[in-house]
Amino acid sequence: MKTRDRLRIAMQKSGRLTEPALELLNRCGLTFRQSRDKLFCFGDGEPVDLLLVRDDDIPGLIAQGVCELGIVGRNVMNEFQLAAGRDSAPLREWRPLGFGRCRLSIAVPQEFDYRRPQDLAGQRIATSYPGLLGEWLRTHGVDATAVTLSGSVEIAPKLGTADAICDLVQSGGTLVANQLRETEVLLESEAVLAGPVALPADERGDMIDLLLKRLDGVIQVRESRLLLLQTSRATLEAVTRLLPGGPQPTLLPVLGQPDQLMLQALCAGEVSWRQLEEIKKAGAREMFVLPVEKMLA
Ligand code: ATP
Ligand code: ZN
Repeated sequence: MKTRDRLRIAMQKSGRLTEPALELLNRCGLTFRQSRDKLFCFGDGEPVDLLLVRDDDIPGLIAQGVCELGIVGRNVMNEFQLAAGRDSAPLREWRPLGFGRCRLSIAVPQEFDYRRPQDLAGQRIATSYPGLLGEWLRTHGVDATAVTLSGSVEIAPKLGTADAICDLVQSGGTLVANQLRETEVLLESEAVLAGPVALPADERGDMIDLLLKRLDGVIQVRESRLLLLQTSRATLEAVTRLLPGGPQPTLLPVLGQPDQLMLQALCAGEVSWRQLEEIKKAGAREMFVLPVEKMLA
């Protein structure tokens, strides 16, 4: 059988991860022919195509080699790994992507007097994540029953089908609305780039290498700011000491003002007004904070 030479990336067809995943791929220079209602989207420039599927199917598609990469929640990927066990090809989290953040938590009804994991012994816990819950219960030596539900987990205690739940939480609003209280965090999750442990050793592997480099640039850029300012040589040291972390700043001469320098620094995160005011007090002038659009180390 002839192997494919085009790379395939699976992502959620419609849901929380769809828009940010597509935007991220676009930022990496990947664009696709519009066919949003279809399973398959043909890539325009690079030899990369998209599969639009339910998020739960993504790890399996990678494990079967139907696609090389997938954008999926860590919760879904880890649950798949636990459910599939040793028979399935292991997956690797190639990059965390910084969106779709949530946590997998245990929550109990307000009146449940919860103090420690052992309080769950003998209880029924409703969840769509029996693998992750089972692993947590084992690590804590708790003998409880996981009741697997595919949706609406949060109403199980009210319906009397469970005593507690183990579900995804983002703001906690759903829990409050259902008179539940979060008691344990089992997993901090976000969207990840998932793929096989061993990447294909052909053009597809080369394309993945290229994509990972672009992705690193995009992720780094998302948080980076370029700080520009002027300072005299006398205040340079005081100013430099206050700069937010990042690589060594660059110094440039200012034409006609031998005592003045222009300083350029890449900052790893947001630069706040407070920080700017402090740096200004130390002697800086003409300060600019600029967003970074592209970066290639
Ligand atoms: P699909 O039809 O693809 O199966 P779904 O209903 O399983 O959709 P979504 O609700 O869109 O999926 O959630 C996709 C992912 O978004 C989750 O697996 C999780 O990683 C992340 N996520 C972030 N916040 C939340 C939240 N509050 N509730 C559920 N998922 C969340
Ligand atoms: Zn799903």
